Amino acid sequence: MRGAVLYAPGDVRFEERDAPKIIEPTDAVIRMSATCVCGSDLWPYRGISPVAQPTPMGHEYCGIVEEVGRAVTSVKPGQFVIGSFFASDNTCPNCKAGYQSSCQHKVFVGDAQAGRLRVPLAEGTLVATPEVPSDDLVPSLLTLSDVMGTGWFAAVAANVKPGTTVAVVGDGAVGLLGVLSAKQMGAGRIIAMSRHDSRQKLAREFGATDIVTERGDEGVARIKDLTNDVGADSVLECVGSQESMMQAIRATRPGGSVGYVGVPHGVDLNGEELFYTHVRLHGGPAPVRRFLPELIQLVWNRKIDPGKVFDLTLPLDQVAEGYRAMDERRAIKTLLRP
Ligand SMILES: [Zn+2]
Repeated sequence: MRGAVLYAPGDVRFEERDAPKIIEPTDAVIRMSATCVCGSDLWPYRGISPVAQPTPMGHEYCGIVEEVGRAVTSVKPGQFVIGSFFASDNTCPNCKAGYQSSCQHKVFVGDAQAGRLRVPLAEGTLVATPEVPSDDLVPSLLTLSDVMGTGWFAAVAANVKPGTTVAVVGDGAVGLLGVLSAKQMGAGRIIAMSRHDSRQKLAREFGATDIVTERGDEGVARIKDLTNDVGADSVLECVGSQESMMQAIRATRPGGSVGYVGVPHGVDLNGEELFYTHVRLHGGPAPVRRFLPELIQLVWNRKIDPGKVFDLTLPLDQVAEGYRAMDERRAIKTLLRP
């Protein structure tokens, strides 16, 4: 079996690796139907996160179950399944509270850009679709493994409600799906912050009512202009930089909420400023597993089409080009098909 391995910044290779097999009785092995490149894969690809040794890549996956360990009863060979980038038992107190990405027994699934994948804790992690899907649904189902679940969590964490005003900081795939999520939750007004034509267009397709091209304090000022100097009820922070986090906090009205899902890189908050904003903060690695049943239904019934974020599809063996295209911002998100 071949899969993607990152050797050094900018150096992704598609090479022979050991085929996954059942190790623990709680494992499953799936044959990949589709996988993709995540914005967070670009941190090590760009050398911003260190690459200490050759590292298998990819954490977004969906496919057909080939084999399960003897302790797995909830899914069976032949079913089409989706799981989160964190495997979870779905039974511990943190899982029961809906925070499966903080499961007491969580295991990161980090080698999904490959033809096959071992999924630990399969009973708690994998959710099967009603039937094997038609091929056109696969991209949207794949997004539920991370990017759509993360955009959805940003909207949940930011307390988006029917009729409210929402701002979204970040026009990557997560931010765009945050727009779609806010729309689905009934937001009255959705302000997308983007300076790229193709991303603005997709944001509008997903439900954005306003576009703000300014950034930083100028971006905050534009949101204040659009909201009678009050700020947005909910702001989705989908980048993870100091500038984007401050932009999100300062664009939120007193009593409003920021949902932050961009992995922070160098973010440092000033306690005194935070104190006087009256803003609620909630975020972290999205508990994607919590949302899988509901989001599978929405995709299955064709109520949402989050797969539109994939603007480049490549065969899996061209994974290196998939990274390059996203690194150079030629692609929003790359879909990889084995
Ligand atoms: Zn758990």
